[in-house]
Amino acid sequence: MSAPVPLEVGITRSAGPSASGKRVLLAEPRGYCAGVDRAVETVEKALDKYGAPIYVRKEIVHNRHVVDTLAERGVVFVDETDEVPEGAVLVFSAHGVSPAVHESAAARQLRTIDATCPLVTKVHQEAKRFARDDFDILLIGHEGHEEVEGTAGEAPDHVQLVDGPDAVDSVTVRDPEKVIWLSQTTLSVDETMQTVQRLREKFPQLQDPPSDDICYATQNRQVAVKAMAPECDLVIVVGSRNSSNSVRLVEVALGAGARAAHLVDYAKEIDPAWLEGVETVGITSGASVPEILVQGVVQFLDERGFHDVQSVTTANETLVFALPRELRASRRS
Ligand code: SF4
Repeated sequence: MSAPVPLEVGITRSAGPSASGKRVLLAEPRGYCAGVDRAVETVEKALDKYGAPIYVRKEIVHNRHVVDTLAERGVVFVDETDEVPEGAVLVFSAHGVSPAVHESAAARQLRTIDATCPLVTKVHQEAKRFARDDFDILLIGHEGHEEVEGTAGEAPDHVQLVDGPDAVDSVTVRDPEKVIWLSQTTLSVDETMQTVQRLREKFPQLQDPPSDDICYATQNRQVAVKAMAPECDLVIVVGSRNSSNSVRLVEVALGAGARAAHLVDYAKEIDPAWLEGVETVGITSGASVPEILVQGVVQFLDERGFHDVQSVTTANETLVFALPRELRASRRS
């Protein structure tokens, strides 16, 4: 796996240094990635085009605020296709679904719109391709995560889940010369490479994926938090507990030297005790987090004397994905 290349590394001051020594470092990039932006816009456009209710299988993205906001507009979130009335409009979430889910939606004659992130679809294609070539596919990822279920469902007879380095001992394959690893898109880069190393010690012929499966957004957010963390007494990651990439940011911050790191959905969840004796607070957010929630944290800190806000920039992101075909006429500007 290649490390993402920083386009720009630097600290930008947006306010003068504070006499109190209190400051905020804002990681850049943070928040919405291209896949989340597309998925949320897909649901909004589907609401505009077809009217409420629109059904979405699972959370469209793993963020409480996004899900609650869409639910208020008439989106009904379901766990499975059999909860959707026949003929209704159903959106598949950014995390992707297995062929079995597509089949069950078709059997109920649902009008489906697929908001799967194209970078997840890429991993599905890899799984299908290597299963066709009869490889054993070792899928590094978290048990029970929707993305992993969708990818594994492309080739259930060929895919084995490897949930971290400690799971390697129990992995067995049919032919050690025909083994490839793939991964969930939102893992810790460093931990994944530890898992790969353990796998390679066991299966020296292990093949690498044709290209990085951990997506650009996950990697970029981890690089930014790593650059910022050594200077931070506290890192606040805005994100939901079921957001894999957000949880990873907390781990990466701690691993990179932050003295404390916490995950919050909203500023109101910040415990003022976390700020005792703290001079530098780093802020970042997961790929499914709207910027308004980050600004809520900035304001919370400003009200407590953290007026000096500086950006720590390690990459500039410009990627945009086209909307699903059914909705392409009307992209928001
Ligand atoms: S985190 Fe990565 S894989 Fe997931 S939606 Fe965003 S760009 Fe796509």
